Amino acid sequence: MGKTLTPEQLQALVERLDREARQAGEWGQVASYIPELACVDPRQFAISVCTVDGQEFHAGDAGKAFSIQSVSKVFTLALALGRHGDGLWQRVGREPSGRAFNSIVQLEVEDGIPRNPFINAGAIVTTDAVLGCNAPRDTLGEILRFLREASGDEDIHINEQVARSEHATGDRNFSLAYFLRSCGNLTNDCDRVLGTYFHHCAIEMSTAQLARATRFLCGGFEGQRMIGLERVRAINALMMTCGHYDGSGDFAYRVGFPGKSGVGGGIMAVVPNVASIAVWSPGLDRYGNSLKGTAALEGLSKATGWSVFA
Ligand code: GLU
Repeated sequence: MGKTLTPEQLQALVERLDREARQAGEWGQVASYIPELACVDPRQFAISVCTVDGQEFHAGDAGKAFSIQSVSKVFTLALALGRHGDGLWQRVGREPSGRAFNSIVQLEVEDGIPRNPFINAGAIVTTDAVLGCNAPRDTLGEILRFLREASGDEDIHINEQVARSEHATGDRNFSLAYFLRSCGNLTNDCDRVLGTYFHHCAIEMSTAQLARATRFLCGGFEGQRMIGLERVRAINALMMTCGHYDGSGDFAYRVGFPGKSGVGGGIMAVVPNVASIAVWSPGLDRYGNSLKGTAALEGLSKATGWSVFA
C-alpha cells in the first residue's frame, strides 16, 4: 500500500517533518486544566515510525517521555475487550460523540451509556470493566505489563505527580463518574475507578516506546499477536471514527488512518499491515488534539500514500 520508500527516504522524511514542525507557525496551547501539564514547554516535537519489516525511524525528541493521557484508553479498551468480549458494548457505544472529550450532556439523554470508549465517560466505564473486583494496584500493574510487553521495554512508568494533579482538579471527571454510577453503569465506587483512571492516563512514554507498543494493532509484525485479529479490526475502526473527539472527521479527512490522541500532545496511529506510528507535540488545537502532531501525520500520509482511503 502507498509508495515504496527506501529506508533512507523514510528517515529523510521523518527528519523533514521534524524540521517543518519546528519552523512553521503556531505551536498550539498546552492543556492547562491539569496543572502538571500546564507547565510543559509546547515547543517540542517527536516522531517515530516502525515498519512491519522491523525497521524504525525516529526524529526530534523521540526518546523523551511525555504524559500519554487518553492514548492509554486504547490499551485499557484492549484489556476490557479481552475480559468481557462483546458484552462490553452493553455498557459503552461505538459512535463518534461530536462533542468535547469531557462532555456530559449525552449521558443523560442516552441513559448513562457513553457514546464510545475514547471520550472520558466511556473510558471511565472501560476502566471500571477492567478493574472488576481487583485492586487498583493490580489493574494498573496489568496495564503496565501490557504496555511493556507490547513495546518490549520495561522502562515505562506512571508519573504520580501528574496523577495527583489530575485528581486534585478532576471535578468534571468526578461528575461524569457519579452520573454513570447513578445510572447503574459503574460497579466500583467513583474514587476507586477514577484513581485507576487518573493513574493510567498519567503513564509516561516516549514516541519510540509508543510506536513500538502500537505494533500490536498493525498486523504483520512478527511476535505481536497480543490480541485476536477481530479485536485489532474493532479497535482500529473505533480509532478511525472516534479517536480524535469531535475532530475525528477532520483527522480522517487529513490523515486517513486510525489514530488516538491524548491531551499530553501524543498521538498513536496505525497503518494496517504497513507501520505503527507515534508523534508528540504538547501544543493542542481547539479539539484537544496535538496541533503539530496532526500536521506531521498529514504530511507523512501525503508523502507515503498511506491513507487507507487512497
Ligand atoms: N486524563 C485526561 C482527562 O481525563 C484525559 C483526556 C485526554 O487526554 O483527552 O481529562
